Amino acid sequence: MVIEVVRIGQRLVRDDRVTTHVALVSRAFGAKRIYMTEVNPEIKDTVEKINKTWGSNFEIVFIDKWKPILKKKKDEKFKIIHLSMYGENINSVEEDLRKEEDLVIVVGAEKVPREIYELADYNVGVGSQPHSEISALAILLDRIQKGKQFEMEFPGAKRKIIPTKNGKNVQVKETRD
Ligand code: SAM
Repeated sequence: MVIEVVRIGQRLVRDDRVTTHVALVSRAFGAKRIYMTEVNPEIKDTVEKINKTWGSNFEIVFIDKWKPILKKKKDEKFKIIHLSMYGENINSVEEDLRKEEDLVIVVGAEKVPREIYELADYNVGVGSQPHSEISALAILLDRIQKGKQFEMEFPGAKRKIIPTKNGKNVQVKETRD
């Protein structure tokens, strides 16, 4: 299963920190790439630095408009999941989501255009209360993968954490640069 994320409509009063965290959750929870509109280019540098140190080929792709990418993904047979507090309860759709092949998950910032609700194969609510795109995305990715994402290897890592009961244990790989 390939999972990708589309972050749409960052608020003009900049939402950089939230958007960075949406990208970090996507990367750490097993998505392959994130598409973003209206974003500060520094976010890409931040995530690329994290890739360099902690591994993975996770990609940030800047886009002008969300519609062409969602249409392209539909043509590529991805199912579109739109995270919205108005959507179907995650508890009742998670099993169906796990049976799907490739998924693209849409998260909003401010008011999401009506068209996205119609384009989506699933509108999914992580509960029916407003909260945060970061938490909604993390919970959705966890329900779909049932924790398997935390066993994933991150290729090319210079540092690797060895989980430990007490303190910090980090394996450091020697590289020339
Ligand atoms: N009022 C906005 C709307 O009508 O879409 C909500 C904006 S909310 C701050 C930003 C994003 O967080 C939403 O677009 C949605 O993707 C996500 N989100 C917030 N609460 C959610 C929930 N309970 N379930 C799923 N997604 C949620």
